[in-house]
Amino acid sequence: GSLPGWERVDALVRDAHEHLLADRDGAVADYIPTLAAADPELFGIAVVDVTGGAHDVGDAVTAFTIQSISKAFVYALVAQELGRDLVGERIGVNNTGLAFNSVVALELNDGHPMNPMVNAGAIATTALVPGATAAEKWSRLTAAMSAFAGRHLAVDQEVYASESATNDRNRAIARLLRSYDRLDGDPEEIVDLYTRQCSLLVSAHDLAVMGATLADGGVNPVSGEQVVSDAVSRDTVAVLASSGLYEHSGEWLLEVGVPGKSGVSGGVVAVAPGKGAIGAFSPRLDKAGNSVRGQRATARLSRALGLNIFASR
Ligand code: GLU
Repeated sequence: GSLPGWERVDALVRDAHEHLLADRDGAVADYIPTLAAADPELFGIAVVDVTGGAHDVGDAVTAFTIQSISKAFVYALVAQELGRDLVGERIGVNNTGLAFNSVVALELNDGHPMNPMVNAGAIATTALVPGATAAEKWSRLTAAMSAFAGRHLAVDQEVYASESATNDRNRAIARLLRSYDRLDGDPEEIVDLYTRQCSLLVSAHDLAVMGATLADGGVNPVSGEQVVSDAVSRDTVAVLASSGLYEHSGEWLLEVGVPGKSGVSGGVVAVAPGKGAIGAFSPRLDKAGNSVRGQRATARLSRALGLNIFASR
C-alpha cells in the first residue's frame, strides 16, 4: 500500500516531533572540532513521498553537513557508472560488525573494505568515481549528490577545513587500503574528496528528497529527474539494510524496519521503497554515532505510517 492521506501524514510527523522534543539523550560528536560546536537542541523531521509531497516540521530546513549519509549516494553513483558486480567485488556488501572508522576489519580481511558504508569502504568507493582528475571526480560527485537533492549542494568550508586538519585516521585508512593495493589513485587526494563529500550541506528536507529518490526507483519525485536506474536504487537500499547504521544495523532494522543511513552530524534518512523517505536531524548521538532523537522519531513514524518492509500488513 501507499502512505496514509496527506493530512494524516502531516499530523503524524508533527506528533513525532512534539513527542521527542524533550528527549535529550546522547551527546554531540566531538572528534571533528566544528561538529562539537553544533547546537544540540536542533531537531527537524521531513517526510517526502514518491509523488513529491512534503511535510517539514521543526528545524527541517536547517543546514548541516551530510557526513556519512553521503556514502549511500556516492555508492549509488559508482554502482551506476561501474556496475554492481565490480563494486561488489572491490568494496563488498557485508556488515563489519565494527565501528565506522575501524581499521580492524581491513586487517582481518586482507585489506578488503567489506562495505561502502564504513569509512574504509566509502573512501575506496569515492576513489572509483569516474574522472581523469580530482576536479573532474568532484564535479561528478557533487552533480550526482545535487541531483538526488534536486538542488545545488554546497560545501561547508569551515567543517571541511576542520575535518581536513584532524582526519589522520581516515588518511591512515586510505594508506592501509593502498598498502593492500585496494585503492586506485593518490590516497591524500581521495581522502580530500571524501572529506569534501562529507562536508556538503543538507537539511532534513533534502535528506527526505534524496531518500525518496531511492524509494522512487531512482527518479527524484520533486524534480522528475532519473538520477540512477531502478536497479541501482534497489541495490543501494539493500546495502543500507545491511550496513546503513554501522554495527547497529540489525537493531535498527528490528526497531524501524526500514533501510536507513546515519551520519555523525546528526542526520538520518530512512527509505521506504515505493512509498517515500523520512529525513531527520538532531545532533545528539548514541555510542555508535547515530542521532538518538533522529532514530527514535524515525522508529515512531515508521510504526505510525506502516513502513516496516517486513510486515505482512
Ligand atoms: N566525515 C566523517 C568521518 O569520516 C563521517 C563519519 C560519519 O558520519 O559516520 O569520520
